[in-house]
Amino acid sequence: MQIANTLMAEKILTPSAYKNRESRGATPPKSEEQYAWNTKTVVHILELKEYTGCTVNFKTHRNSIWDKKKRQTPEEDQVVFYNTQQAIITEEVFEKVQQIRQQRHRKTKTGKSSMFSGLTFCADCGAKMRYSTTKDFEKRQDYFVCANYRNITDKCSAHYIRAVVLEDMVLRHMQMVISYVTTHEAHFREVMGQQMKLASDEAIRVNKKKLTKAEKRLNELDRIFMRLYEDRVNGTISGERFASMSKSYEDEQTKLKQEVETLTKEVAQQEQKADDVERFIAQAHRYVGLEELTPYALHELVKAIYIDEPNKGDGKRRQSIHISYDFVGFIPIDELMQEEMT
Ligand SMILES: [Zn+2]
Repeated sequence: MQIANTLMAEKILTPSAYKNRESRGATPPKSEEQYAWNTKTVVHILELKEYTGCTVNFKTHRNSIWDKKKRQTPEEDQVVFYNTQQAIITEEVFEKVQQIRQQRHRKTKTGKSSMFSGLTFCADCGAKMRYSTTKDFEKRQDYFVCANYRNITDKCSAHYIRAVVLEDMVLRHMQMVISYVTTHEAHFREVMGQQMKLASDEAIRVNKKKLTKAEKRLNELDRIFMRLYEDRVNGTISGERFASMSKSYEDEQTKLKQEVETLTKEVAQQEQKADDVERFIAQAHRYVGLEELTPYALHELVKAIYIDEPNKGDGKRRQSIHISYDFVGFIPIDELMQEEMT
């Protein structure tokens, strides 16, 4: 909706108005309708993978030649041909947009919104931090608070942080990371690569083990089905018993098949991790000299921000945040910098 409003304000023609203008002859739309962007149109454009330069086939299907309804094919069954045309946007930007669209953005009653909405989480209970503002608030008064804290007072403590403080902390951390990554690229590549390899090797090992177990059980189930069926044919078990047993085995089979699918996907993703450090380094290079935090820069580089409970130990309010960066996760920037000093 925000994008649609911006396009309207900037007097950008809607696709149909543009088409009309290009093809002339056709009846021109009423002048006030030319810029009336519809939210659905924007959503459709944002979700169109073809803009990354690929062709997606079999997006819809019919169950039979008599099926009148076009049905959406699940994404994993669609066929994608890459690099069939010039890309308008990169694959990374496209993926990022899908991610952002999945995060629910709460619109506050005042219509104000924050670029941190959907990105900030409570470090202790994991709940989303809720953006809080009122019409009369000045920008410096807006704050984020743990969603659990507001709902049930004793469920979580006051993880409250002012939006301007958060912005300042995040910007400074990002500046540090960008400057470190771009000036000590080789060292960063080595340390992060190592750290991520350890984590992903372990995850791959665990997942492969689960995968073997699930596959073994699936084979076993095939044999059980066979025997069950023979027993039924021989009349060793009743029809009722047969029905209830095969139902429970079928449920188990369906669940296992899903698990195998998820695990296989995860393993494939984890095996690609090596490229992720390179991707992050490339992103960092594009933001050298970042002076002001824009929603675009924030979403391109940061995946999530976790807010600690404030520490009031020495009478001063101190609060830490932890930033999970896109592709690489947490970056031990203090340790990296200290290493450099010694
Ligand atoms: Zn919490």
